[in-house]
Amino acid sequence: MHAFAIAIAALVLLPAPRCVRPGVQEAAAPCVRTGLTKELRQKYPKAPTALVLLKHVLAKDELWPDDEGVERKKERKRILEILEDPRLIIEYSAPLVPHQHLEGKKVVAGQTIDENTIRLSALAGKDLYKLAQTLLHELMHVQQLRHQGKPNGGPREWLSLSLWEKPAYDIEQDLPMAPFVMEWKDVECFPAEDPAIAL
Ligand SMILES: [Zn+2]
Repeated sequence: MHAFAIAIAALVLLPAPRCVRPGVQEAAAPCVRTGLTKELRQKYPKAPTALVLLKHVLAKDELWPDDEGVERKKERKRILEILEDPRLIIEYSAPLVPHQHLEGKKVVAGQTIDENTIRLSALAGKDLYKLAQTLLHELMHVQQLRHQGKPNGGPREWLSLSLWEKPAYDIEQDLPMAPFVMEWKDVECFPAEDPAIAL
């Protein structure tokens, strides 16, 4: 009886393992292991497709600008690795800014909360391409947090903020559109060599 009580106490008191979060499912294991919350999947049923396509596009050097630069190429490869990491969870919260405050303000489509959490709002993107752009922007921030750290404010905050945002906007703008406007029904986790996605 005593042992039983201790066992129960241990179950109640021990913290739950980090990887278990109710409702979270991997986007498209084994290729994209990013966790998506239930709410996110309901709000953005195309998120797994966007992430799988993103992964394929990120892996193909020829789809990116010739003058991309060594650093950005490195960042792109790191984002690929992040998509294989189940610790990253994408959740949904709408809206990130209350509606009455949206007017005249920059629309918040997504937010990187920490190196393992991205939050999308109701404004993350109506179509697959826009959604992928928002995801890629935030994935760049996750990459920055994991490998470079967040710039700390201080007197030159405007500078550190622009240094922080520029790579995210740049990669978002460079994302090729063609793969995302094709008629995809259900993009499963397919091998990169699949001729059907020879983009
Ligand atoms: Zn940003």
